Order: sequence, then structure tokens, then C-alpha cells
Amino acid sequence: MSNDRRTTTEQAMDTMKVDVAVIGAGTAGLNARREVEKRGGRPVMIESGPFGTTCARVGCMPSKLLIAAAEAAHGLAHAPAFGVHPGAGVRIDGPAVMQRVQRERDRFVSFGLKDVEDLPADHVLRGRARFVAPTTLEVDDRIRVEARAVVIATGSRPFVPPPFERIRAHVLTSDDVFELQDLPRSLAVIGTGIIALELGQAMHRLGVRTAFFNPYDELGPFTDPELKRVARQDLGAELELHLGIELASADAEAGGVRLRWREPDGSTHDALFEKVLVAAGRRPNVDELGLEHAGLVLGRGGVPAVDTMTAQCGDAPIFLAGDVDGNLPLLHEAADEGRIAGANAMLWPNVERHERRTPLAVAFTDPQMAMAGLRYADLPPGGHAIGTVSYENQGRARVAGRNRGLVRLYAETTKCRLTGAEMFGPGMEHMGHLLAWAIQQGMTVQTALAMPFYHPVLEEGLRTGLRDLARQLKNMGSCRPEDAAEAPGE
Ligand SMILES: Cc1cc2nc3c(=O)[nH]c(=O)nc-3n(C[C@H](O)[C@H](O)[C@H](O)COP(=O)(O)OP(=O)(O)OC[C@H]3O[C@@H](n4cnc5c(N)ncnc54)[C@H](O)[C@@H]3O)c2cc1C
Repeated sequence: MSNDRRTTTEQAMDTMKVDVAVIGAGTAGLNARREVEKRGGRPVMIESGPFGTTCARVGCMPSKLLIAAAEAAHGLAHAPAFGVHPGAGVRIDGPAVMQRVQRERDRFVSFGLKDVEDLPADHVLRGRARFVAPTTLEVDDRIRVEARAVVIATGSRPFVPPPFERIRAHVLTSDDVFELQDLPRSLAVIGTGIIALELGQAMHRLGVRTAFFNPYDELGPFTDPELKRVARQDLGAELELHLGIELASADAEAGGVRLRWREPDGSTHDALFEKVLVAAGRRPNVDELGLEHAGLVLGRGGVPAVDTMTAQCGDAPIFLAGDVDGNLPLLHEAADEGRIAGANAMLWPNVERHERRTPLAVAFTDPQMAMAGLRYADLPPGGHAIGTVSYENQGRARVAGRNRGLVRLYAETTKCRLTGAEMFGPGMEHMGHLLAWAIQQGMTVQTALAMPFYHPVLEEGLRTGLRDLARQLKNMGSCRPEDAAEAPGE
């Protein structure tokens, strides 16, 4: 196109030429940018929202801060069980709870802000990026970026289902719940996934009248039917759960939002909640990227099909990293994917394949939930043994009055190697790590049993589960009988 025929917008627009354009300055984007710079390339990172990352601002960190306050309250409430009486009753100072959440959250965010401030000015662009050609972006119709390769690291955002979208001004999501100045008197939590359970249980333990609603009869991340059953029984004893309900309406009125719903038994109910927290899943930020100009094959939800070992979309010089790809939306995975995407964006077209770590996910509910390696739902039919241990009589858990939960361990029957686990119980963030490390090391059940176990610790419960697994393998004729018998005793 000759210059005189260009539109006014095109004439006015500056063009920037870089090796790699990274869209999004979250955990994945920051890691991708760093990787490009490390390899001697010229990156630019484009951000349309606030800096500081989802994890630090509205994700991992503020949620754990709220949970820490809830644990303190729960500890006091349960102290009398140990003969310890915390005086004239427990008083929860809502504004002070939220102030600590915000103060500590801001401290974590400040580290991320500092990282961005320290970058060369031409490595960062403010504005919303969209594709206008496969490796050309426009940022706010203001500046054009021509890159050799592009990394899409745009994350995800809370999904607000239609009945609540209509009254959006009256509902909270995880993006704004941490901004509350005080704890609400009552809270309806829409959803029973990990974010819903973490935040809702914390609110409940901080004295907020909390009820959970889910049109689906589902709770938490488990796929193992035994874990599903135990988690539902356990959390159902503490929390007000309405599962499999039909939501008739959600209306804003004086004092909050009134929900009307039908239970699976046909009974109808209504209740007024001061606040509603919608935690009904998240959607990838792909809809405003102009992906139709990127020449990619789009899969479910308009997300480009991606090879998780290269982060590459098809054979294009376009890479996907972090929550946007919908695959394991967790911080450490976003960081890994950012590094892989940044490296391969520089190496394109000669991209390298990267072994991914053993999957590990933790929900900071009480009891905690964790999954390592293969989930029950991923086990190939046949060829697997399952070991089970209940934490109801586990010694150390009983000492601490935290004797709840169940762990299920999976191993393949050919070489008796550990392959996965689903866990619900005290300290499962630590058991999850031990198992994920053992699985990644290719440990057999026998090798894991030969590791040291101190006494009395929660890990001894794991040993009981491993022994059960060894027995199951032996019964299936998979491992030598003496292997299980030789395992060190208590
Ligand atoms: C409440 C909650 C609790 C969580 N707890 C945990 C936990 O305990 N452990 C854990 O591992 N994970 C947890 N997570 C998940 C974790 O926060 C995410 O996996 C991680 O932050 C994803 O990083 P990301 O880089 O993919 O996305 P983000 O950090 O969201 O970054 C994406 C960035 O892209 C920007 N962007 C989007 N579109 C455009 C565009 N067109 N142009 C320019 N910029 C754009 C966005 O503004 C955003 O800053 C939690 C999440 C939530 C919400």
C-alpha cells in the first residue's frame, strides 16, 4: 500500500519492531519476557490492566492471607477441645482482618511492581493488544508492534453467569472480594470449586453466615469416587451446601441480594444475603485478541490449540503460556510455560520440546485437598492398583484434633511405580509434594517405603497407604511378595 492511500489511523501509528512481543505482564508473561532477554533478544511486554500479577493481587496470596485469618479464628474456636479457653469469647474484628489481608497483599504486589519498574522503558507497553496479522499487533490503536514471534500470556478472568451478570454491580468475584473494608454479615457463594471453597470456608470460619450454591452436584476437584464421598461428607458437616439446585432468580434489594432456588427434592426456598461471591469458574482472555487475524486453529472456547511441551500453536511463531491455555491454571505451571514460550519464541522455527513436571495441585481448604500425578479419572483402564488410607485414626492428626480425611494412592502394575494420588486431609500440601517428587523420580512403591519416616508425623499416614498399595500389588501378582513384607515397620 502506498503512503498516500493509508488511512489516518495507519499514518498516525508508530511502529515498533521487536524479536518477541509478549501479551500480558502476569507470571507467564514476565517469565517469557525474561527468557527472551536472557537469550539476547529484544522483547516488548504489553499490559492492559494493572501490573503486579493476578497471583499477588487477586489470587494465591490474598486468598491465603484470608485463610490465615480464618485458621486463627478456627484455632480459638476449637481450643476448648484441648482444655484451653480463650477468655471472654472470640471477637473477630472484620476491618482489621481485611486491613491485614490488604497490607500484606500490597507488600507482595510491590515486589512485582518493582520488577516491572526496573525494566528498560522500551520493554514495556501499556494498552490492550490485538492481532492485525499473524505476528503484528496493535496496541490501543496507538502503536503497531511487528514481531518475529508472539507469546500470548493473557491469563483468565472470573466467569459471571447470566443471572448474576444482570446484577453485576451487586456481586463480588475474586477480583474484588479482597477490597472489602469489612467482613459481610452474610455471603452466598456461587460455585463449589477450589476458589469457592477456599474463600467461602474462610469467610464461614470468620463468622460470616455463608451458604454455597451449585446447579451441578459437584464439590471440589476430586475425580476419585471415594474422595468425592468423603469430602462431601466432611465439608457438608461444616458448611451449608446447596448442590444440584435450580436457581430461580437473583434480585438486588435493600440489604443485599435475594436468591430463590429449588432443591433437588423439589422444595423451594429464598434467602437474602448481604453479599454474593460468584466463583463459578474462569474464562481465558482470548475474546478481544483479534485471533481471527493470527491464522491459528482455534479449539474449545476460542483458545488456540497448543502443544504443552513446546507452548507452540500449530507451527506458527505464536506461543501460549499460563492460565490462558486452560491447562493446569496454577502459578508454577504459568511460570514454566512462560519460560518455555519465551525460549521457543526465540528459537522458532527450531523449537525445543520440554518435559513437564509431574502435575501437583493443592486446595487450601481445611482439610486440605491435593492431587499429584495422574488423577483417578486419568488412570488407564486395567493395570493399576489403588492403596487407601483414612486419616481418621492417624496418630499425629489425632494429637492435633485434625484427624479427618482420606488418601488414595495409585500405582501401575507392570513395574509397581507410583503414578498418582488424590488426597483430602491435614497437611496434604506437604504429602502432595512428597508424592509428586516420588512420582517424578519414577519411584516404585517399595522404594518409597524404604524412605525414612519420622514418628509421630502426618507422613506416617502416607506410609500406611503405601503399605496398602504394596498389598494390593502383591495380591494382583505384580510385585514380589517379599517386597511388601520387607518394608520398614513402625
Ligand atoms: C482466588 C485465586 C486463588 C489462587 N490460588 C492459587 C494458589 O494457591 N496456587 C496456585 O498455584 N495458583 C493459584 N491461583 C492461580 C494463579 O493465580 C494463576 O495460575 C496465575 O496467576 C496465572 O498467571 P498468568 O500469567 O497466566 O495470568 P495473569 O497473572 O492473570 O496475567 C495475565 C495478564 O494479561 C493481561 N492482559 C489480558 N489481555 C490482554 C491484552 N489483550 N493486552 C494486554 N494485556 C492483556 C491481564 O491484564 C493480566 O495482567 C489462584 C487464582 C485465583 C483467582
